[in-house]
Amino acid sequence: MKSASFHPPKRLLMGPGPSDLHPRVLAAMAQPTIGHLDPAFIDLMDDIKRRLQAAFGTANELTMPISGPGSAGMEACFVNLVEPGDVVVVCVNGVFGGRMKENVERMGGHAVLVEDAWGSPVDPAKVEAALAAHPGAKALAFVHAETSTGVQSDAAALCALAAKHGALSIVDTVTSLGGIPVAVDAWGADAVYSGTQKCLSCAPGLSPITFSPRAVEAVKARKTKCPSWFLDFSLLLGYWGGGAKRAYHHTAPVNALYGLHESLVLLEEEGLEQSWARHALQHRALVAGLEAMGLGLPVAPAHRLPQLNAVTVPDSIDEAAVRAQLLSRFGLEIGAGLGALAGKVWRIGLMGQSASPAHVMACLTGLETVLA
Ligand code: PLP
Repeated sequence: MKSASFHPPKRLLMGPGPSDLHPRVLAAMAQPTIGHLDPAFIDLMDDIKRRLQAAFGTANELTMPISGPGSAGMEACFVNLVEPGDVVVVCVNGVFGGRMKENVERMGGHAVLVEDAWGSPVDPAKVEAALAAHPGAKALAFVHAETSTGVQSDAAALCALAAKHGALSIVDTVTSLGGIPVAVDAWGADAVYSGTQKCLSCAPGLSPITFSPRAVEAVKARKTKCPSWFLDFSLLLGYWGGGAKRAYHHTAPVNALYGLHESLVLLEEEGLEQSWARHALQHRALVAGLEAMGLGLPVAPAHRLPQLNAVTVPDSIDEAAVRAQLLSRFGLEIGAGLGALAGKVWRIGLMGQSASPAHVMACLTGLETVLA
């Protein structure tokens, strides 16, 4: 009888995430499941926390992976920090800033938008003006690495503005962690979330987060009950923050956490700076090849993310047909444009294990062949 088991096709993942997983991460996830309160698992949780602190560049006690994708980490920040009536300055220069606005409004807050063009970074001067115009704003929220456009914003400058105006900073580092410098303590950032499926090259479905002591105080000072049971830190920390006395909150995704642990071990073995340098080098190689083929990148060089390259689709080219051919002929996945950039750009990811010379060569060869 033919087995109904699923066997995924062989792919090279060069889209906006997930990226290719290292065989050691896959092997780690295939190990036997143990209980989420087993002493051996608790030791693993402590080690994951320590390794996440190193990756984020923080000594924050509240550092843990949320059991859910990057969107769950985003929601955890807003649902714990924003109460009805709170004003939050939200920077929107792509899809994910728009989701932050949506989160603020769903929590009953008032989102003050600072908008910049898709393809440009957040403008600190506009942020300063918005914070000055809204004294008492609870937080400033922005995306460090906008995956929809391939643009990096100046997190250090934006967090400093938030602190200057007495607002908390909420920072999306889903696409940045492991790929470009993330320095939570040096930035003075307050609530930071990420994802596992991008530059950490781990399976999708977990969201590392970290909260500064100031953000923890703000959670404790809430006047209203957190409207989410699952993401309420006052309950969740009984498990992740419980030290030796951890109590059941939810059944942790045990095998996914084995995978995250192994990806953080790999990051430590390579070194954070070396990982950033590898992403930058493969980006330069990819851009040189794309430009040699006559393809252009819409983002100014100073603001480009090495790990997410928006590439202008030439006139008269059916962008979806090109992606379909890359997938069927070369097993190569690249991303489509999102939102305002749909149909106008391809998004080529060089994230984690996918930031390699072999990936760059495969992508350039595939594109050259399909566009010939
Ligand atoms: N924020 C950014 C910048 C992202 O790129 C993504 C996903 O691409 C998310 C948030 C949401 O993460 P997830 O798809 O894991 O829920």
